[in-house]
Amino acid sequence: STSIHRDQLRPGEIHAELPPATDAGLRFIGRIETPFQVRADCPRQGDPDGGPDCRLILDPVYAPALDGLDQFEFIEVLYWLHEARRDLLTQSPKADGQTRGTFSVRSPLRPNPIGTSIVRLIGREGKTLTVRGLDCLTGTPLLDIKPYRCSYAVQARAKPGVST
Ligand code: SAM
Repeated sequence: STSIHRDQLRPGEIHAELPPATDAGLRFIGRIETPFQVRADCPRQGDPDGGPDCRLILDPVYAPALDGLDQFEFIEVLYWLHEARRDLLTQSPKADGQTRGTFSVRSPLRPNPIGTSIVRLIGREGKTLTVRGLDCLTGTPLLDIKPYRCSYAVQARAKPGVST
């Protein structure tokens, strides 16, 4: 509840009484299986080279929607970080305690806890994809899959002279 959350703020952190949710009608298209059982097991970001094999297990109804994906070396995965609190406007990560605005970090704690990763596509068997490079808990709901094309993607850069 909110009162519990208020008691669980680090120095500098601000939380909000969130406005009512918009019903966007999201459909989970499947779930993700990883070796990560608890948050402490998860890497901060996945590693498409050295990371462990993970599986995207789609609801069978979506299997035909995977056709044509096999040709891509990398795919973009969107998922719902279902265990994240959603009310923090500023956050002071344990690592350095430095307070930052929620939209300036890739923390799982955000109003809409959507995670994204560019992962290496290892293979497909029916409705299941094997990928490398995820950072989420096993059982995390899957939102979407898109091919990753470098020619369409713009590299995020800090402004000159700003270190991130
Ligand atoms: N790669 C994604 C991104 O950049 O949008 C997520 C990055 S976030 C820093 C990854 C962390 O979220 C993990 O290290 C773990 O602590 C946490 N996490 C993973 N799965 C989660 C879940 N299902 N619910 C809440 N937190 C989760």
